[in-house]
Amino acid sequence: MRVELLTVGDELLLGDTVNGNAAWLGQRLAAIGVEVTRSVVVGDGFDPVIEATQDALSRADAVIITGGLGPTYDDLTRDALAKAAGVRLLSDPALEQRLRERAVASGRPLRPMALRMAEVPEGATLLANPVGSAPGLRMELPGGVAYALPGVPHEMHAIMTDLVLPELRGRVTGDVPVRRTLRTAGVWESVLATRLAPVEALDGVRLAYLPDPAEVKIRITASGPDAQVLLGEAEELIRDLLGTAVYGAEDDTLDRVVHRLLAERSANVAVAESLTGGLLGAELTLMAGSSATFAGGIVAYATELKESLLGVPRELLDRQGAVDPEVALAMASGVRERLGASYGLAVTGVAGPTPQDGRPVGTIHVAVAGPGGTSTVESPVLPVRGSDGRERPLIRRMTVVH
Ligand code: ATP
Ligand code: MG
Repeated sequence: MRVELLTVGDELLLGDTVNGNAAWLGQRLAAIGVEVTRSVVVGDGFDPVIEATQDALSRADAVIITGGLGPTYDDLTRDALAKAAGVRLLSDPALEQRLRERAVASGRPLRPMALRMAEVPEGATLLANPVGSAPGLRMELPGGVAYALPGVPHEMHAIMTDLVLPELRGRVTGDVPVRRTLRTAGVWESVLATRLAPVEALDGVRLAYLPDPAEVKIRITASGPDAQVLLGEAEELIRDLLGTAVYGAEDDTLDRVVHRLLAERSANVAVAESLTGGLLGAELTLMAGSSATFAGGIVAYATELKESLLGVPRELLDRQGAVDPEVALAMASGVRERLGASYGLAVTGVAGPTPQDGRPVGTIHVAVAGPGGTSTVESPVLPVRGSDGRERPLIRRMTVVH
């Protein structure tokens, strides 16, 4: 079952409205095993809608159109469908009656323009709209079925859920592909792809990498008669190959996973931040209940504050500068001690646009001090380009994620 999407509206082309309808439809259709093979956006216009509809049905079994069903003269989907089918538009008496009743109920006069919403191409079936005035339309055209739905997202959702998705699900033949999303952090997309070559080689498994930008979601799709088993095998193999880089699945987020891991150990964390200016603390306090695992933080942006607030030795700062692995370690144990937390976490680095103490933009050091005086530091090389200031948000976000 192959379906194409056609979203209509000048606002989509101009970028005033984000095409949420296409995203919603893509997700819902994939979930029931319908293959979405193309998605097209056209402006409000008679010819573009006809052409794109006919074009879609020359390839796919059905086309789902959203937008252009409203009462204004730029809403031309019903006219375009009538033309594509070579039929007339007829006013539907029941629909007209309902529009009149709604107008009376709302105390507003019925504008003649609104009566356009009662017009239906001959031979089309109405798809009842439980939450708005304009019903959807279902029409058999040469090549396949066209479903036309209102552009208003919640109206489109309601009609799809009640009527269109059930019908399409009934037309899906064969095995429905299954999907799972794993979430990774700290490893760049290209490195992930190289390490996951053995998974890519599995028959019936496809991987998609969705960078976000400092995290990467890996979407596994398995198909065939044993799709569910294959999906489980692929997930296990990925977790083996990536180790702790996989921090969660589906809707897990980093802050929630960190919170959970700390809570399991009855531990908490304090942060010492330089280049992130408080973003790390903000991230760790996103969720309700974070007070159980987050002690507090010190933002020591100026080099001298790393000494006075965190106890980093003056001579170390003088000798090495502030962007240094030993400084990161001293910040981590300093904040751990001063705030009395189980763990101290520290970040220092160069967000740009200019190098600092001879260290290039994108240099970062992340240190953790833990119970029993254990501490570690990591100095990943951030894959950043540019040094005009525009890279700052990305470097700071990548630092938080790392
Ligand atoms: P109808 O009245 O049948 O909904 P229409 O879609 O042409 O027709 P519009 O006034 O153009 O009506 O759109 C209604 C609302 O729905 C607007 O706020 C518009 O931004 C939004 N909308 C339309 N298409 C989309 C889309 N593809 N994704 C998200 N929002 C959309
Ligand atoms: Mg529109």
